[in-house]
Amino acid sequence: MILENVVTWTLVGGVILFFLLPYIRQTKKNAQLSLETKERSKQMGDDIPTVQHPLINPSLCIGCGTCVRKCPEGTILGLVGGKSTIINGANCKGHGRCEASCPVGAITIGLGDTSKRSDIPILDENQQTSIEGIYIAGELGGYALIRNAVNQGKTIIKQLKPDATLSKQPDLFDVIIIGGGPAGISAALGAKEKKFSYLLIDQQAIGGTVRQYPREKLVLTDLVELPLYGKLTKSEYTKEELIQTWETIHKKFKIHSLLTKKLFNVVRQDESTFDVRVTDINDPKNIGRYKAQNVILALGRRGNEIALLKKIGIQFGSED
Ligand SMILES: Cc1cc2nc3c(=O)[nH]c(=O)nc-3n(C[C@H](O)[C@H](O)[C@H](O)COP(=O)(O)OP(=O)(O)OC[C@H]3O[C@@H](n4cnc5c(N)ncnc54)[C@H](O)[C@@H]3O)c2cc1C
Repeated sequence: MILENVVTWTLVGGVILFFLLPYIRQTKKNAQLSLETKERSKQMGDDIPTVQHPLINPSLCIGCGTCVRKCPEGTILGLVGGKSTIINGANCKGHGRCEASCPVGAITIGLGDTSKRSDIPILDENQQTSIEGIYIAGELGGYALIRNAVNQGKTIIKQLKPDATLSKQPDLFDVIIIGGGPAGISAALGAKEKKFSYLLIDQQAIGGTVRQYPREKLVLTDLVELPLYGKLTKSEYTKEELIQTWETIHKKFKIHSLLTKKLFNVVRQDESTFDVRVTDINDPKNIGRYKAQNVILALGRRGNEIALLKKIGIQFGSED
């Protein structure tokens, strides 16, 4: 009887070890890989997220790894020391699948403490910067995703009230929008819908960062509604389909735009007018100046935008 018990328990133990050991080995290997990725990202300056990202509560995290597996962008999160950890923050697009999939509510998506961030401009509830009349839409404000960009572009235009007397001046736009990505397109359509005089300026072609995605990249987007155009009906597009959509919108609604012109400064001219200064991408000595009552900066975050905002005089959470 005793012998039978010993044999049975030895067998049970053997079977458990047979399955458990490879699992433990794999978990250790994954943790090591995550640490290495974190270290590599740190060296390349890619470890810290620039937009909204997972904020993990380690005391709630049970280390199940669901968030790691659900991230559509790959290795943003990893398990280190049995807890979910950001290992490659700069690649985070803020989809929020980690938050939705966490079984214990240990993740929320946000920007963290923006009062300590020198790369996040101070904005009021209407996306207005510290300079009255200058607004920020889209990823430049810290929130990525096409849905957020489109919604912010719309929100700004909705509450904009250009001075009706000034609006009669032929060379003064009610609003100039810089950036022809989803935020800028949405703002331009909104401006057109409200019959504002507007001008959209971009240094490249229409479409924004989508143009920089890898070929055939699958873009996930929640259903959003653009002024005049209506809903973007699919939740998944290829990069090429989305560019085609932006180009069709640009053409169909005859968006008043100036392409291949790069903004280099916005200067207040008087109490109610801004002087918007651009250079020609193909001829940098060729400078253009445009006047507007309001300016929407929808520049994204792919270049030197933060330095440009600081030059314009826009205030940030933490001034270093
Ligand atoms: C690889 C990758 C994959 C992504 N995948 C997804 C996804 O699946 N789903 C999703 O919702 N989001 C995704 N995103 C994020 C999404 O693309 C951005 O959040 C969104 O494009 C932001 O829109 P925006 O209008 O704020 O800025 P952008 O799209 O970045 O557009 C900014 C525009 O401003 C112009 N500009 C910049 N500076 C100047 C200047 N000085 N003068 C004139 N013009 C200027 C640029 O040329 C550009 O056209 C992804 C991003 C990347 C990089």
